Amino acid sequence: MEWDTRLIHDGQEPDPLTGAVNVPIYLSTTFRQSSPGVGTGYVYSRTGNPTRAALERALARIEGGAGALAFGSGLAAISALVMSYPKGSRIVAGDDLYHGATRLLELSRTHGVRVDFVDTTNLANVRKAFASGPPVSLLYLESPTNPLLKITDLKAAAAIARRGRATVAVDNTFASPVLQRPIELGADIVVHSMTKYIGGHSDVLGGALVLRTQELLDRLYWFQNSAGGVPSPFDCYLLIRGLRTLGVRVRQHVANAQQVAEYLSHHPRIVRTLYPGLPGHPGHEIARRQMDGFGGMVSAEVAGGQRAAIGVAKRLKLFTLAESLGGVESLVNHPALMTHRAMPLAEQKAKGISGGLLRLSIGIEDAEDLIGDLRQALA
Ligand SMILES: *Cc1c(COP(=O)(O)O)cnc(C)c1O
Repeated sequence: MEWDTRLIHDGQEPDPLTGAVNVPIYLSTTFRQSSPGVGTGYVYSRTGNPTRAALERALARIEGGAGALAFGSGLAAISALVMSYPKGSRIVAGDDLYHGATRLLELSRTHGVRVDFVDTTNLANVRKAFASGPPVSLLYLESPTNPLLKITDLKAAAAIARRGRATVAVDNTFASPVLQRPIELGADIVVHSMTKYIGGHSDVLGGALVLRTQELLDRLYWFQNSAGGVPSPFDCYLLIRGLRTLGVRVRQHVANAQQVAEYLSHHPRIVRTLYPGLPGHPGHEIARRQMDGFGGMVSAEVAGGQRAAIGVAKRLKLFTLAESLGGVESLVNHPALMTHRAMPLAEQKAKGISGGLLRLSIGIEDAEDLIGDLRQALA
C-alpha cells in the first residue's frame, strides 16, 4: 500500500464490536478477569490499553518495526530508553541533539553510564569513537537536528555501529515517518516526540519508541510498564487522528518550507539560511538520498545580530513567537533566548547558535502569505 493509504488504514481497523470507524477511547483503568490471571489480555491501563495499542500498532507498521511503545511525551520515551542501559554501559551520541535528550544522557553519567558526544555529521568521529575505548552499547542519533538542521548519514553511521555490535537509535521527530524511515536505513530504534508533526495541531504531548525486533520490544516494554510514563487514552486518540492526516500535512509543510527557504536565501538582510533542501546546505546530498522531502523547519540568521532578530520575530504577524514545532500553524523561535536558553553561552557560540538566529516552523498556511509576512517583518 502507498503512504497515504497506510497512514489511514494501518493498524486502524473498525471496532469489531460496534463497527465504529474510529478507534474508541477506552478510559477504563482496569479490565475484568474471568478467573484469576485469565482475561482478555488487558489487565490494567498502564500495562496495556486498547486505544494505546491501536496507536502503537499503527506506529509500528508505519516505521516498519516489530512493535512500538507510546509514552506521555518525547522525553518520557527517551528517558525509558536511556534508563534501559545499566551501569558500565557506554553510549555514543550526537553532539547536537534535542537539549532534553542531552540532559538525560548527562544524567545517566551519574548512574555510571559512560556517554561520549561526537559530531556525527562527520563519520570519521563515529569511527574513532567505536575504535577507541570500551565497547559501545548504543549509538544515539538525530537527523535533521535542532535548530541547525544538520544531517547525519544514517545508513553509514548504522553500519559502523553494526560492526561494533551496538544498537542504533534515531530521533526521527524533525523528519516524521513520511519523510524518513530509520529502520529501513539500518536503525534498531526510532524515537519520536509525537508532540510535533504526528500530533500536528499543537494540542497534545506524546512520545514513542519503535523497535525493530521483538527482543528490543520486550526489553523496552518492561521499562514502559515499570517506569509508567504512558499517555492517556484521550491523548492516544488525538495522536491516531494526527497520524491520519500526517501525509497531506507534511507534504504542504515541505512545499512551503522550500519556498520560504529560497525566499530567505536571497534576502539581503539574511546572512545565512539553513534548510537541507537548499543545494548549498552541507547535508543536501545525504538528505536527498535518505529522506523523501527536506522537512518543514527552516533556520535563518538575521543581519545585525540579536537585536535585529528580536525585532523581526516581534514584527511577524502570522508566525507566532512560541517554542515547539510541527503544528499546522507557523511558529518563530529565537533559540538563544528560548529553546536553547539553558545552554551556556560559550557552548551556544561554539555550536553556531548565534543571537541573530531564528528557527521557523513552517505551517501549512499559503506560502505567499508566509513570505508576505516575512517580507514586512524584514523590511
Ligand atoms: C520536542 C522534541 C523532543 C522532546 O519531546 P517532548 O514531547 O517535548 O517531551 C525530543 N526530540 C526532538 C527532536 C524534539 O523536537
